[in-house]
Amino acid sequence: MAAFKKTSNFKMLTILMPKYCPRINARRNLNLQEYHSKDLLRKYQVSIQDFRVIDSKFDSKPLSDFKADEYVVKAQILAGGRGKGHFDNGFKGGVHLTKNRDEVLKLAQNMIGNKLITKQTPKDGILVDKVMVAESVNIKRETYFSIVMERTFNGAAIVASPAGGMDIETVAEETPHLLKTVPVDIYEGVTDKIANEVAEFLEFKGPLKKKCAEEIKKLWQLFLKVDATQLEINPLVETDDGRVISVDAKINFDDHAKFRQEEIFALDDVSEMDPREREAASLNLVYIDMDGSIGCMVNGAGLAMATMDIITLNGGKPANFLDMGGGVGQSQVSAALRILESDPKVKTVFVNVFGGIVNCATIANGIISACKVKPPKHPLVIRLEGTNASEARKLLEESGLPLQIISDADEAAKTAVKLAQ
Ligand code: GDP
Ligand code: MG
Repeated sequence: MAAFKKTSNFKMLTILMPKYCPRINARRNLNLQEYHSKDLLRKYQVSIQDFRVIDSKFDSKPLSDFKADEYVVKAQILAGGRGKGHFDNGFKGGVHLTKNRDEVLKLAQNMIGNKLITKQTPKDGILVDKVMVAESVNIKRETYFSIVMERTFNGAAIVASPAGGMDIETVAEETPHLLKTVPVDIYEGVTDKIANEVAEFLEFKGPLKKKCAEEIKKLWQLFLKVDATQLEINPLVETDDGRVISVDAKINFDDHAKFRQEEIFALDDVSEMDPREREAASLNLVYIDMDGSIGCMVNGAGLAMATMDIITLNGGKPANFLDMGGGVGQSQVSAALRILESDPKVKTVFVNVFGGIVNCATIANGIISACKVKPPKHPLVIRLEGTNASEARKLLEESGLPLQIISDADEAAKTAVKLAQ
C-alpha cells in the first residue's frame, strides 16, 4: 500500500463529521451501551475495570461477590459527557465515585428512572435504565486514544492525544499540537513501531510505554475483528499503581458487516430510539426527527436534502423526514403517512417523490388507501414526478380526497409552508 501522507488538519477527520453533517442520509448506526462495549474489550484482553450492571429492579445480587476499595457508578446511556451531566431530578453527574458499598445502590437509585442531560444528549436528556458499577481506579493521567476509518487515508488511522478525558474537539481546536494522527495500513495493521510511537506521544514512560503499546495492539485487533468504523477510548488512563486502563469506550460498527457480526448486532439498544424512528426502521424506512412543522415524505437522501432546502428557502421548517428509498410498497407508504402524522409538531405533510425505481402510482395508492381508512389529520401537499407520474396524478385527482397536487417542486414547497403557518 502506498505511503500515507500525514495530516495535521484534524478537522478533516470523520470523527468530527457527525457534528457538521445533518443526519439525513445516515441509516441509524448500531449503538452499544458502555457495558456491552467493555465486554468486547475484555474479550480481546484489553485491560478494563471489573464491573457489574444494576437495572431498574435494583437487585443487589450482582454486587454480592464484588468487592473493591472504591466503586465508580456510571449511568448507561448512548451519549458521552456523562461525568459533567445532570439529571432531571436535580442530581448532578452521571459518573460517581464512592468507597461505601451501601452508597452504590443509593447512587443507582438517583440515576435509574431519571433522565440524564449531557452536552451530547437531546435537551431533555435520556432516560437511564441501567448503571455500571466498576472497581474504581486511581487515575494519575488521562489520555485519548481512538481508531477511525479515515477517507483521507483510504483506511484506518489512530488519533491520539496526551490531553484525554475531555472533549477531543476542544483539544483539536485549541491545542492541535497535542493531537497526533497516524495512518494504519489495513494489511500490516498496528506494527510495534506504530504502537510505540503512539505510546510515546501519549507520554507513557519506561515500562508503561511497553504496556501501553500492548494495549494499543489489542485495541487494533478488536477494531479489526469486530468490523468497527470507530473505536474511542476516552480516557485511556495511567493509574497510580502503574497500569494502563481503558476507562471509557465507544465503538461504532460497519452496518454492512452485520451478517458476520450477528452476535454484536443482536445487542443493539433501541430503547433510546424515537418510537417513530423505531417503527419506520421496522418497516425498512428511515425516519429522521427535526424541529419544524412540515412532515416530509421523500425518496432518497439527495431529495431529502433538496426538500429541506426548498422548505427553508420558502420560510418553513421540516418537522421530520421519512425516506422511503426505492422499492417501497403500497402498505409501507400508508404506514409512512401515519408515522408522519403521529408527530405532534406536524401541521402539514409534504410528499415530494421523484419516481425512478419508485413507481409514483404505488405512492398515490398508498396515500389514498391510508386516507380512506382514516381521513388525513393535516393538509397534504403532493408532488410526484417521474415513473408513472401522470397515472398517479389521475388516481389522486379521482380519489375525491382534499389533496393539493402540485407538479412544480418550488410551488409545492411554498404551498406546504403556507399551510403549515
Ligand atoms: P463520560 O463523561 O461519559 O465520558 O464518562 P467517562 O467514563 O469517561 O467518565 C468521566 C470521567 O470520570 C473520566 O474522565 C474520569 O475523570 C472519571 N472517572 C471515570 N472512571 C473513574 C474511575 O474509576 N476512577 C476515577 N478516579 N475517576 C474515574
Ligand atoms: Mg469518556
